[in-house]
Amino acid sequence: MPRRRAKFFQGIDASPGLHVGLVHLLDRRRVHIPKRHLPNADLEPEVLRFRQAVTDSVAQLESVRSKLCVRGSKEPGAIIDAHVLMMKDEMLIDGTESLIRQQALNAEWALQQVVAEIRKAFDAVEDDYFRERRSDVEFVGERVLRTLLGKDAEVRAPAHERAVVVSHDLSPADTAALGRDRVAAFVTEVGGKTGHTAIVARALELPAVVGVEGILANLGTGDRIIVDGYRGQVIVHPSEQMVREALARSQGLASRVAALKSELALPAETTDGQRIRLAANIEMADELGTALSYGAEAVGLFRTEFMFMGKKAPSEAGQRKVYSKILREMGSRPATIRTMDLGGDKSQRIFHTEPEANPALGLRSIRLSLRHRKAFLTQLRALLRASVEGKLRLIFPMISCQAELDQALEMLDEAKHQLDQKSLPYAADLEVGIMIEVPSTAYVAELFAPRVDFFSIGTNDLIQYMLAVDRHNEQVAYLYNPLHVAVLRLLHHVITEAHRAGVGISMCGEMAGDPLYLHILLGLGLDEISMNPVAMPYVRHLIRHSSAREARKLTRRVLRMETSEEIGRAVRDWMAERFPDFFNAEGHTDLLGGL
Ligand code: PEP
Ligand code: MG
Repeated sequence: MPRRRAKFFQGIDASPGLHVGLVHLLDRRRVHIPKRHLPNADLEPEVLRFRQAVTDSVAQLESVRSKLCVRGSKEPGAIIDAHVLMMKDEMLIDGTESLIRQQALNAEWALQQVVAEIRKAFDAVEDDYFRERRSDVEFVGERVLRTLLGKDAEVRAPAHERAVVVSHDLSPADTAALGRDRVAAFVTEVGGKTGHTAIVARALELPAVVGVEGILANLGTGDRIIVDGYRGQVIVHPSEQMVREALARSQGLASRVAALKSELALPAETTDGQRIRLAANIEMADELGTALSYGAEAVGLFRTEFMFMGKKAPSEAGQRKVYSKILREMGSRPATIRTMDLGGDKSQRIFHTEPEANPALGLRSIRLSLRHRKAFLTQLRALLRASVEGKLRLIFPMISCQAELDQALEMLDEAKHQLDQKSLPYAADLEVGIMIEVPSTAYVAELFAPRVDFFSIGTNDLIQYMLAVDRHNEQVAYLYNPLHVAVLRLLHHVITEAHRAGVGISMCGEMAGDPLYLHILLGLGLDEISMNPVAMPYVRHLIRHSSAREARKLTRRVLRMETSEEIGRAVRDWMAERFPDFFNAEGHTDLLGGL
């Protein structure tokens, strides 16, 4: 048989690692959904049939969940919990039941309509993280649908060991059901770095490439494939030569990564003795296990807004439980918990808001919290009550003027007063800080510093507002530059003023977790950098092989430069010269791929 030509596909590097294996194709989209109109007498039995399917689907998920036992990581389990909750969601259940009754439709068709409606609502959201949540709704809908149709809701395990699962999309439950033993890599047509396949694959430490458009039409089960999670590349029908090259490269990279991971317990200290605290950004309390297993010394940012995505705000007791859990697990290590940063690209259904032409500049974040005093006070009380459990650093997001800080502090005092009246305890030494993510506040950081205990620089928003570049708009992504001359000079100003006033200074935007900027951040003198936990082993290793004195030299040099291009070149060359495994003249090498 003539050898088939190799085909290359470029996707997104979702999880590092490289694997050569055989394809196990999972095409779960082809479910035929019948549409039937029912006589009146059949409507209530149809509703009951639907409810039974939901109950059965919940039971299936719960059994899948119990199989999920990923070392130290509870994250995929937490996503399955979220799916169970969605199955019980009023919108899904009541929506489907009323369609069955009002339009005399069969359950499958009604459910499909409701799922499409919910999906549409997610489509309108700009944020990648939330757009990815569309697939949650689809997975949940599909599972109930398959149960209704009497089809196998579970995916079939590959016939061959260490297979490469290729699918349009992959739910966490699918991944759990497939298990780590039989699967060695994942490829999906959709998804991004914050999607499920990426999260689960990273937790399982398996290579993954996502967003590979059109790949399903180009392969079949049993085809040979190379999945390169470092470069985000896939090769179908590779030649022997390609396989040899890929394996050689992968062995080199894998042993380097293993060496990095062996340093997790070592301090993040430069060769000349400068310590910098490595902290974790988390969105759910369950992520703490992963963060600690990667050696997090603090929680640098807990984004509480993710608890406020449902129809109702969580209760004071519910919130307190989550905050307490984090503080308890962190013990004497600090945990920065941010008050809800809702609105803008983080869409919410709890508070009524008018449509806005510019949501990023609109009624979002602290502005929304100050408008909804009752809910804000509830959150502040929950935080205060949890503060006795550990070392809480409470932080207000998006402060853009002094009046906003005045009001936020007044609300905190009011919450304390309410607790005092009931003789409920809270930590007296609670630290209070603000996010520096609006240029106005950064520019006059010296006026804010005496009023707070710490700053945390949110570069994601700070860069977006400073450069007038929407952080989620691919069209202008080329302008989004952490090494922009104005950004660096502003960072220098904020950090200098924080030091002058003796307040703690951290950075929790994505810039903090990108190893390319490490020497600039060391040179600027940050006390703490907070990042996605998976970046920590790389950042720790680089810190341990860096000299703070040298890093300051680089920073002084680039602060004198006048163009962003000159700075970019200088930083890349500097890092490539010192760490050729990690960086080259263009930026990252493969070793940092998939992060
Ligand atoms: C930031 O803006 O840098 C930040 C950390 O906050 P978020 O990404 O949640 O807006
Ligand atoms: Mg922000």
